[in-house]
This record gives sequence, structure tokens and C-alpha cells, in this order.
Amino acid sequence: MAMFADQTALVLFSGGQDSTVCLAWALERFGHVETIGFSYGQRHHVELDCRQEVLRKFRTQFPQWAERLGEDRVIDAGVLKELGDTALTSDAEIKMTEAGLPNTFVPGRNILFLTLAGALAYRRGIRHLVAGMCQTDDAGYPDCRDETIKATQLALQLGLDTRLDVHTPLMWTDKKATWQLAHKLAGDELVELIIEHTHTCYKGDRSQRHEWGYGCGACPACELRAKGYEAYRLSL
Ligand code: ZN
Repeated sequence: MAMFADQTALVLFSGGQDSTVCLAWALERFGHVETIGFSYGQRHHVELDCRQEVLRKFRTQFPQWAERLGEDRVIDAGVLKELGDTALTSDAEIKMTEAGLPNTFVPGRNILFLTLAGALAYRRGIRHLVAGMCQTDDAGYPDCRDETIKATQLALQLGLDTRLDVHTPLMWTDKKATWQLAHKLAGDELVELIIEHTHTCYKGDRSQRHEWGYGCGACPACELRAKGYEAYRLSL
């Protein structure tokens, strides 16, 4: 019996590895699950195609999830591209900035996404958001940190005057543990789906297939995914 069998969750679903595992996690716990994605001129817009394919596979390969999986929405967050020149929304080289962060950092992105998701949840009468932010093993993005998410949750609860819980099941997992969680949730079938259909590469490269999936193999996101997968395989 699912933990929140009578409740609905809204999952921030990008089509990447982490949010796909979060979606599976939510489908194991909630009676009904809806998804929201954002289009913001991301360089790896291929992610948006991947997310449709992942949703389609979830519906066809996992009958126990298909019946719980509800509406999907993609929201235009193109204002982020308008605001700034980061490596994820332009063709700039990926490098470190003076602030000590990679220029793949999109300022305000996760706070904006949680706010938009919170607004949709409010409209839909949904009290649970599920998001894939991760403080461990990540690029040091300050808007992925637990404190930032907790503070944003509080701001949403106060600003919407409603009970809204933000669940971040991957906050303290590393990439190896994320693969392990996928396996625990639905075995090799989910692991293979993630390898084949989710997207992580910052450069949007899907021309090269590695044992851990598609990507350039050299950007920080590919390196992290490859390293995590190798550690996961060794742990089997
Ligand atoms: Zn890459």
C-alpha cells in the first residue's frame, strides 16, 4: 500500500536521470502523480523530447504506475534565457565563474521552478511537490541545497497560505545511490530505461552511446553520470 495512497503529488520532471528516479519514487508512494516540466531555451532541449519518451515508457512498461500517472504540463520559462547568459542557455563554453560556480548555474532557476510548480499545485489542490535537487555530489549549485529548498518551501507555505510539502528524495544521495534507488524501485527494467531514454549531458549530445547512456562523455554532467554508474555496477 502506497504511503500517500489517497493523495496527489506534482513531480518536477525534466527528463533527466534524477527527476526520472524521483518520478518512480513518487509513483510508488502516491495514489496519483502529475508532472510539470519547463522550457527555458535550455541548450539540452533534447531533454524535453526525452521526457515525453520516458513518460510514454512509464505508461507502457509499468502497468502499476500507468494507472497513477496523470496529466503532464510543460510551462514556458523562457524568461530565464532572456535574463542571462549562462552555459545552459547559450553556446558559451562551460567554465568556472569568479563566484566559484560553473557557468552552467542558472541563477534563480530552481527557486522559480518550485514557485511555478507551487502555483500549479495550489490551483490543482495538490499538497506535495517532488523534486530531484541533490546536495551531495553536485556542482555546488546553491539552489540545490537542502536549506534553499526548505526556505523556498516555507516561503510557498506562507505566500500561498497552504500546506505544501516539497519532497527531495535524492537530497543526500550520490550518483551511485541514485542508480541503486532506481534498481530498488523497479529493478533492471527501470535502470535500462534510464540508460536508454533519460538525458544528462550539458551539451545535449545524443550521438554517442556509452554503457551509462548517451552523452558527450566529457562535460561535468556526463562525467558524474559515468562515475556513478561505474560505482553502481561495481556494487552489484
Ligand atoms: Zn556531456
